[in-house]
Amino acid sequence: MSDFRMSGSIPLSARQPGQATTVVQVGSVAFGGPGVVLIGGPCAVEGRDQVIRAARAVREAGGVMLRGGAWKPRTSPYDFQGLGVEGLRHLVEAREATGLPFVTEVLDPRDVELVAAQADMLQIGSRSVQNFPLLREAGRSGKPVLLKRGMMTTVGEWLHAAEHVLAAGGRQVVFCERGIRTFEPSLRNTLDVGSVAVLREMTHFPVIVDPSHAAGSARFVAALARAAVAAGADGLLIETHPDPHAALSDAVQSLDPAQFGELAASCRAVARAVGRDL
Ligand code: PEP
Ligand code: MN
Repeated sequence: MSDFRMSGSIPLSARQPGQATTVVQVGSVAFGGPGVVLIGGPCAVEGRDQVIRAARAVREAGGVMLRGGAWKPRTSPYDFQGLGVEGLRHLVEAREATGLPFVTEVLDPRDVELVAAQADMLQIGSRSVQNFPLLREAGRSGKPVLLKRGMMTTVGEWLHAAEHVLAAGGRQVVFCERGIRTFEPSLRNTLDVGSVAVLREMTHFPVIVDPSHAAGSARFVAALARAAVAAGADGLLIETHPDPHAALSDAVQSLDPAQFGELAASCRAVARAVGRDL
């Protein structure tokens, strides 16, 4: 693995010997500092009230950032694809209502400018991790980028994806492990907790974990979240919905507000045990 560093093929993302973690600042939220950043929100923005209610629940539980997809990458073209620009507007309103900055996925390079004008952070989803024109456009926007791991990408490919963002002028990348596809079908994906430790060594950028898309089922999310914090993750990205049964996407893995609060409390205890706050 250290070949990437030795070969110099990722000069902008590689951690040099003794180099400190680069803190990625998104408004008042600092990734890579002493705090574990808790991000929560629905898979998809479904309406104004839904996202504002979700944002309030996130804030009440100690979350510091809102997530929500306005453009959704769906396996089927007949499933809900997101509200698009209207969804972005609802996210802006939720930020105004709660003070929480938000991260949202951008799927199409042609939308980067529009999304970057409103969002605090751009999410590049698993399915887009090697969409090189999109990575470059995101880098050129100058916005902080949350870069999901692809379900089929190695850590090396993922690091090179970040390098595309950085080579295009991006300065702030946060890696997000969300599980990979393996032979094991009992959960939606297999959370590669080891990648947190490996990336810590390989890159100076922060690393967070999305246990929701790894678990695929609400009842397993908290256990994976605690494992992530114990492994040294700089943050968590959690799907939560005011009424998960009614969610238009990823209903089964979405936590209700009470479950989100319980997750926050149990992860806080783990964070303290490893010398961090949440
Ligand atoms: C999401 O965060 O809602 C999402 C689509 O995640 P991923 O790209 O990891 O599947
Ligand atoms: Mn989702």
